[in-house]
Amino acid sequence: MVTGGAGFLGSHLCERLLKENKEVICVDNFFTGSRRNVDQLLGDPSFRLLQHDITTPLNLEADEIYNLACPASPKHYQFDPVQTTKTNVLGAINVLDLARRLKIKVLQASTSEIYGDPHTHPQAEDYWGNVNPIGARSCYDEGKRCAETLFFDYVRQYHVPAKVVRIFNTYGPRMQPDDGRVVSNFIVQALCNQDITIYGDGGQTRSFCYVDDLIEALVRMMATPADVHGPINIGNPVEITVRHLAELIIELTGSSSRLRFRPLPADDPRQRQPDIAKARAFLGWAPSVGLRDGLARTIAYFEDLLRSDEHGLLR
Ligand code: NAD
Ligand code: UDP
Repeated sequence: MVTGGAGFLGSHLCERLLKENKEVICVDNFFTGSRRNVDQLLGDPSFRLLQHDITTPLNLEADEIYNLACPASPKHYQFDPVQTTKTNVLGAINVLDLARRLKIKVLQASTSEIYGDPHTHPQAEDYWGNVNPIGARSCYDEGKRCAETLFFDYVRQYHVPAKVVRIFNTYGPRMQPDDGRVVSNFIVQALCNQDITIYGDGGQTRSFCYVDDLIEALVRMMATPADVHGPINIGNPVEITVRHLAELIIELTGSSSRLRFRPLPADDPRQRQPDIAKARAFLGWAPSVGLRDGLARTIAYFEDLLRSDEHGLLR
């Protein structure tokens, strides 16, 4: 079972699991995901799509659960912050209760955002973070932190074979063109020769992981023995400033876009880079797709999308 399976990462995960001849139940309420993301899977008899909101209990049979349901872009998770917290907290309780009843593994897609605006760099799993508990990002950051708490309490209290990975910024085909995340924004703006919107001075950093690498790590984490719980950072440690990212995307698209500086959103983390020593040790994993290569593949996806102009971005 993949919650959030009709979203960006979830749809890639469903596809990957089907390739391994697994049966997949995709559970999604289509808040930020869409049927279009899993259209190509609908004819597969091993694939089932279930419209369901994980804030209400689930009663299904499954062998393992990947819990990815939650809007990931600040624009979307801040649209209805109370619902975001509910998705994280009630959603975690519901998938954990199901895993407990079925005695199965459950994996939580946590996030680098639990480190907040970090005081240590790069971020290793033993860093407790620097999160504003009452800001506009808190519904997501604190929601994900509480979900982690629940996962480890279900391990200690109920012996559920629960696992937590902390995902750092991930990009690739099927990101929504208008979901406000930096890679999709910059690529769409560059392809449309519009100004590139840099928030702040562009000196803040992120480390971007290509989606295929990320999915590989999720599958490896699920395959670890029941007593491996994490948390484990998953991300690409190659760090880049937002401004440099904009320049790279302009170069790769051959765009005539210019940089336009906008105010920095509140609590925007200044720097972010994963320490992936644990992922290397426990999963034998490291990312294999470089930023230029991954961006080129993502640009090709958005070029196709804009050509069909389903989203009316060129109108
Ligand atoms: P996404 O917004 O594309 O996908 C989230 C999916 O969850 C969507 O299909 C949405 O409709 C569904 N969903 C939301 N609330 C739901 C609910 N209450 N019930 C059922 N379904 C619900 O985001 P994504 O980038 O694919 O992220 C997937 C997961 O990975 C999220 O949990 C996110 O926090 C985590 N994550 C992603 C990134 C990243 O860079 N993409 C980084 C860190 C963590
Ligand atoms: N950002 C930007 N321009 C945009 C969108 C985002 O400069 O059009 C910045 C944003 O302020 C942040 C970084 O890019 O510093 C990554 O933003 P994103 O929303 O993709 O991820 P997150 O902030 O959750 O890491």
